[in-house]
Amino acid sequence: MENILPLAIDGADLTKPIIISGPCSAETEEQVLDTARRLARSGVKVYRAGIWKPRTKPGGFEGVGIPGLAWLNKVKEQTGMKTSTEVANRGHVEAALEYGVDLLWIGARTTANPFAMQEIADALRESGKDIPVLVKNPVNPDLELWIGALERLYNAGIKRLGVIHRGFSTYGEKVYRNSPNWRIPLELRVRYPKIPIICDPSHIGGKRELIASLSQQALDMGFDGLIVESHCNPDCAWSDKNQQITPEVLGVILDNLVYRDAPVPTESLQTLRRQIDQLDNELLEILSKRMNVSREIGAYKLAHNMPVVQPARYGDIMTSRVLAARQAGLGEEFMRQILSAIHEESVRIQVEISEKK
Ligand code: PEP
Ligand code: MN
Repeated sequence: MENILPLAIDGADLTKPIIISGPCSAETEEQVLDTARRLARSGVKVYRAGIWKPRTKPGGFEGVGIPGLAWLNKVKEQTGMKTSTEVANRGHVEAALEYGVDLLWIGARTTANPFAMQEIADALRESGKDIPVLVKNPVNPDLELWIGALERLYNAGIKRLGVIHRGFSTYGEKVYRNSPNWRIPLELRVRYPKIPIICDPSHIGGKRELIASLSQQALDMGFDGLIVESHCNPDCAWSDKNQQITPEVLGVILDNLVYRDAPVPTESLQTLRRQIDQLDNELLEILSKRMNVSREIGAYKLAHNMPVVQPARYGDIMTSRVLAARQAGLGEEFMRQILSAIHEESVRIQVEISEKK
């Protein structure tokens, strides 16, 4: 994907941070227009509204369909905002292009489905129209599947591409509706630096209260923009009501966000980076020493016919190190993840020793 182009609409680049907002779903003409007018007053330039809604179970509100596309055109006429909607199949693409929607996005469930992605890519190619497309991450934390969806569009001639990070599904009790796993979009950034990344704090957080902090976190990590769900009357929304905010609340959040875009690292940053490089070298040395000791332990266990994994010892290490980490001001979950990765590698080394004998 060498020739990715900026996310311009009508020849004009979207200024950063790119802000897209509007309701989860278009419900009525009045709701669409009221929300849009108020968003325009908060300075939003790109409107979003779901016209076709992928619902987890049948029987929910599945979107207003084609009539909603005409309402989006009224949004353009009355506010000057650009419009965007989600497409999930050929029919959606053809209808959205016919009505002149300015930007399309692919929903998380669709990105995860290569057949649907290919159908959308084919429909776009056959339309002969060029339109910017944003691809949400797939529901499962699979970077290759995400990239695969982008490649299908790129190969169909879509060069104005971007991604939306909306978090990943998990099972059970949780703080976030969809776990952010920031590592995954950041890895995508490293591999495709030209692809803009937009954060969707609404679907990550699932709650209004989390939107401001998730948005700031995303901007701090160098994301290029935000897509935030807003509604003229959030408590009465027909879908995702817990995560929608009013256009005015969005305005306040946007006013308080800090967008850092200084591109050139300063001399003092260089100095700090040299310290990080040095510390990383020390970490590597220590890890290597630790693995050598682990190897010796492996040989000892083998000589004394002991199993490689000693659960009680692992439990003790976890408890004492996590406690020490907390006292040192380090995150407990962070420490657990590091210890578990180190333990996994020690076990691998020790198993290798016993297999060689
Ligand atoms: C949405 O944007 O309203 C939506 C359905 O999102 P996702 O595909 O991220 O679940
Ligand atoms: Mn939604």
